[in-house]
Amino acid sequence: MYSYKNISDYHQQLRNDEISCLEAVEYFLQKIKDNSNLNAFVEVYEDESRERAKFLDARRKSGATTGKLYGVIIALKDVICFQGHKLSAASKILNGFTSIYNSTAVENLLKEDAIIIGNCNCDEFAMGSTNENSFYGRVKNALDETKVSGGSSGGSAVAVQAGLCMASLGSDTGGSVRQPADFCGIVGMKPSYGTISRHGLIAYASSFDQIGIFANNVEDVSNILETISGPDKFDSTVKQQKTVNIIFNRPEEKVGFPKYKIALFKNAMTHESLDSEIKTEIYNLAESLRNDGNIIEEIDFDLIDFIVPAYYILTTAEASSNLSRYDGVRYGYHNSENETDLNTFYKKTRGLGFGKEVKKRIMLGTFVLSEGYYDAYFTKAQQVRKLLVSRTRDIFQKFDAILLPTAPSTAFDAGGMKKDSIAMYLADIYTVYANLAGIPGISLPLFKHSDNMPFGAQILTSKYNERTLLELSEMILKKYKRY
Ligand code: GLN
Repeated sequence: MYSYKNISDYHQQLRNDEISCLEAVEYFLQKIKDNSNLNAFVEVYEDESRERAKFLDARRKSGATTGKLYGVIIALKDVICFQGHKLSAASKILNGFTSIYNSTAVENLLKEDAIIIGNCNCDEFAMGSTNENSFYGRVKNALDETKVSGGSSGGSAVAVQAGLCMASLGSDTGGSVRQPADFCGIVGMKPSYGTISRHGLIAYASSFDQIGIFANNVEDVSNILETISGPDKFDSTVKQQKTVNIIFNRPEEKVGFPKYKIALFKNAMTHESLDSEIKTEIYNLAESLRNDGNIIEEIDFDLIDFIVPAYYILTTAEASSNLSRYDGVRYGYHNSENETDLNTFYKKTRGLGFGKEVKKRIMLGTFVLSEGYYDAYFTKAQQVRKLLVSRTRDIFQKFDAILLPTAPSTAFDAGGMKKDSIAMYLADIYTVYANLAGIPGISLPLFKHSDNMPFGAQILTSKYNERTLLELSEMILKKYKRY
């Protein structure tokens, strides 16, 4: 069995000729085959990744310089464009569609010599928390196949969890990277809104969407983030200067870990939906941090019960507009059976092409934007968002970070949430805040529950302060991992 600690370790092994890129690719291709029952991948680029590995091996042997992600084997969520490869957002409506260009994130991965091994299953159009809303069927949690992977980037999470690739990309509009990372026991990070270009990412809710990263450790997340972030002429919402020193540089090797000032939200910790073991462990973690000289303060955050409604109003409104482009005329699935007129064609195509959850959200979004309801719902939700942003700014005047649970429970039983979508929406309580406020967040695998499933803690920092987020995360994982 092939093992490596992180990307730097893998690079060292390559330099020592202990392994080649091709051998690494063969190893992961075999693992993907052996674990096909997990349903993590939609498509595996077998021949192509072998060819790329051979090309990269030859380049290294010729003495050419190698990129930062040389030979690193990465999987993509099925919402990220990779030129010449199928892309469907796990939806029937995009059946047969092939990307005609590369997303900026993929372009940057390839420039730095990464190998893309396949694309991963997810909830349709990234809408969901269980990866059960997929045209390709559900993804199984590798630790217990009766449990969900989490969602919506469930395939990308399980691909890393089960060791089917070295790292993967997902997208996070309301927690879709952090929550499946939490359910699977791996690291999942969502950068600030505007850190990674959204060019070539299928839009769900454009003012929330961010590409996020799954890996086994913080250093790999940091290296991948460094590679794929930065300004992009195709996305005007990206920060125009690249964040300086985003690169992770093992702070403890310099002066020891700095001390942090961390806020804990009282109203989040005492929320009735929070599992009591998760609550205890997060409080224990806060206590250990305090004993080690950090300052931890519990503060009031009375907006807690407004964040899920605000999130679902704003994201469905944006989705209803974004998804109107899938009309069956230019690409993807279309139904022209008994076609009589254009309206019937649209209705049939969209009626049969979209799944239930997506249709529900398009209708909800259309409703909250409709005349007579616009001010009551959409405008109100925007006011809540504005309030959250300014409250967040105040918090980060005083604190370096916020500590929260990632999710109120461990991975749900498969099928368990199907009948109660309100319960499923409410379970997003701890993740959607970061997307509403545009700040970065990470889920760290720290604990094991008595139900045998992993769970983590979530850390948030101020907008564009990914560096503190990653350094603090490394410290927490190093010192307090109990899983
Ligand atoms: N669970 C959330 C939702 O269903 C998260 C989605 C996401 O981040 N893409 O909207």
